[in-house]
Amino acid sequence: MEQVELIDITKSYDKQKKVLNEISLSIEKGEFFVLVGPSGSGKSTLLRMIAGLEDITDGTLKINDKVVNHLPPKERNLSMVFQNYALYPHLTVEQNILFGLKAKKVSKVEQQERLRETAEMMGLSELLSRKPRELSGGQRQRVALARSVVSQAPLCLMDEPLSNLDAKLRANMRVEIRRLQKRLGLTMIYVTHDQVEAMTMGDRIMVLNDGIIQQIGKPITLYNEPANLFVASFIGSPK
Ligand code: ADP
Ligand code: MG
Repeated sequence: MEQVELIDITKSYDKQKKVLNEISLSIEKGEFFVLVGPSGSGKSTLLRMIAGLEDITDGTLKINDKVVNHLPPKERNLSMVFQNYALYPHLTVEQNILFGLKAKKVSKVEQQERLRETAEMMGLSELLSRKPRELSGGQRQRVALARSVVSQAPLCLMDEPLSNLDAKLRANMRVEIRRLQKRLGLTMIYVTHDQVEAMTMGDRIMVLNDGIIQQIGKPITLYNEPANLFVASFIGSPK
């Protein structure tokens, strides 16, 4: 079953330039789909449109077979982790994790249950009363992920969530995110400009350049059969 479908999606912030040009793709339920491309290629714009944070200029966006072009973000049943996953500095880890649930009117009992479960899964159980400044970079990142996981949304969007971390932590978090996604059966749309991240994490990868799809396929296919020189040099295989 397709969870997300884009049909000829085009985006212009102003009349002259198309930031995204007739993007069509389908993402399956439970798939880890990576969106990769250089800075300015339109990755964040695409993700924000799926989240409902940006208007669609032209085309159709479907989630679970329903056209959602004009559906408000809160009604899309998805969670999003941003590059600058700002935590609220004056709130504890617990309050940060539960913040989004307040607006969703989840009962106190249910909140505590989800909190316990999520914190345990993410290794945060001992840190719930701390403030963000008392955490390491990796722990903070985990709180940001927990905030998204606790929503129990089946579709998760991540925009370069690891780009502020050092290389070693990044490598660990890749594995952690992948494990989490599998365990929860999430459909993931994961944006990165890092080829290694794309190749090691994605079930499928879409390479974007200048708002145009260059290729969509499995990592091995992109590596062995790049559609053009751009993909070949971006993925780093000879052609
Ligand atoms: P990426 O995430 O791949 O780096 P973006 O989606 O952020 O790319 O940006 C794609 C293009 O759209 C860039 O040329 C950027 O300058 C432009 N852009 C992004 N956001 C806006 C905006 N709010 N207003 C006008 N132009 C924008
Ligand atoms: Mg971006």
